[in-house]
Amino acid sequence: MKKIISLTLITTLSLGLVACTSNNQKDANASDATALSSMRIINGHLEDSTTDDKYRTTYEVFVYSFCDSDGDRVGDINGLISKLDYIDELGCNGIWLMPVMPSPSYHKYDITDYKNIDSAYGTLDDFSNLVNECHDRGIDLYIDFVMNHTSSQHPWFKEAVEYLSSLEEGQDIDYEACKYVQYYNFITEPKNGYAPVPGTDNRFYYECRFVSEMPDVNLDSAAVMDEYKDIAKFWYDLGVDGYRMDAVTSYYTEDTQASINVLSEFAEYVHGLDPNLYIVTEAWTAADTYDRYLESGVDSTFEFEFSQAEGYIAKALNTGKASTYAKHLDPSVKGLRAYNEAAIPAPFYTNHDTARTGGYYTGEFATQKAKMGWAMSLTMTGNSFLYYGEELGMRGSGDDENKRQAFLWCDDTNAKGMATALKATKNIDNRLGSLKQQQDDGDSIYNFVKEVIRIRNSSPVISHGEAVFVEEASTDSCCVVEKEYQDKKMWLLYNVGAESQTIDLSKIKGEATIYGAALTNYSVLSIEDDAISVPGYSLVIIE
Ligand code: CA
Repeated sequence: MKKIISLTLITTLSLGLVACTSNNQKDANASDATALSSMRIINGHLEDSTTDDKYRTTYEVFVYSFCDSDGDRVGDINGLISKLDYIDELGCNGIWLMPVMPSPSYHKYDITDYKNIDSAYGTLDDFSNLVNECHDRGIDLYIDFVMNHTSSQHPWFKEAVEYLSSLEEGQDIDYEACKYVQYYNFITEPKNGYAPVPGTDNRFYYECRFVSEMPDVNLDSAAVMDEYKDIAKFWYDLGVDGYRMDAVTSYYTEDTQASINVLSEFAEYVHGLDPNLYIVTEAWTAADTYDRYLESGVDSTFEFEFSQAEGYIAKALNTGKASTYAKHLDPSVKGLRAYNEAAIPAPFYTNHDTARTGGYYTGEFATQKAKMGWAMSLTMTGNSFLYYGEELGMRGSGDDENKRQAFLWCDDTNAKGMATALKATKNIDNRLGSLKQQQDDGDSIYNFVKEVIRIRNSSPVISHGEAVFVEEASTDSCCVVEKEYQDKKMWLLYNVGAESQTIDLSKIKGEATIYGAALTNYSVLSIEDDAISVPGYSLVIIE
């Protein structure tokens, strides 16, 4: 039996697309032969079928560097609001905001007031507008929740320090006199991870595992937990849809169970407010430990093992061995659900603490590998996270500032909206260009990522399905992953090598049709005699 995807259709649509492509290539026909035009033909029938649950495609925004509305070059909430249509059109239906509360630092992870907005970012009214504008577009908004430490400038800490420095030598702490002393971990002997309390002549030390500007709070204190519950309620009342819990492994240093217990109390409270509130934890550690955090009743924990330059995705692309990625999909989800049956996987590839993927790959196929990595990450089951600017292949590594640079709306750094206040510590060559450059380029990473998200949003089998590696149907560089959801099955064929790979469909199912594809080159796909050829660095989905 011979089934060939209609070449006539492809020819007709190709001609139709010539008129609306706009790039600088001389030959109109050549300019049409882009990966995007090819994908538009193959994916043309796909319709949006996103579900209104916690399985989303979530865009991580660093407000400081995203979009500036008032000309000071620091991004702000009104700037973000002006770009919600961009995020919506990209296909994302969730936003995770890095901290927006008042803080002396640019990154704002050391908070001085948990119930306000940093003045550089705007006001609580602006935030309320943001919530409404997000909800008008069907976008859920999650805030960063920093419960491990405050700023050393936080009034709680300042009052505690003032009280301790007022004590006479040998005088006992009176917790009634200053309740904030119990908000932190004070001791009287020097210890690793502690710093001297200013003004106490080394009579007291406070726990600060990250830096001295970030004193660790005492989560054993019921009063502290009540404060954080109250803070969670404050933002819930403003309309937020969830919380990304910062640094949960540091709640109790080297005591995972104690950290989990704190999260249990928090999750019980939050889900008691509203079971639809989403909680995802940042447990930056190995899977056998981060899985355990789900025991607390939080919805998700980030799947670190697939992320970064050493994770399963990048490793598969750098070695051309597809099983490196595929064989971990099922065990990874099973690992999470062993602790919580309702766990929602939270795949991500990069975040504000990691090097950007634009720099993970070198050589002839660097750009194709960069694109393909996103096809692998964004078709994973769960609530999938995309760090701003990754859709442009922005680069940045080394010092944190380099990973958090201004979103490249256009090439002119002086243009309105460019949030360039944060300076990089080295030159960054964003060789794939700005959004403006990439939008009309059918071979850009931007158009590729957008098309991948369109595929993701077209079927809950992709976003929700159970994924199993079909090893017997795979080749070395092309893995077959079966996904199933509500009795519907699809097969995702990921080719992580440069050569096209022929997959024997009889090892998968009898008759198959092409559902969709994410291609890094113009390709014509066909199914012939129960075999399909998957182009290099491409994802082809059959059903
Ligand atoms: Ca601004």
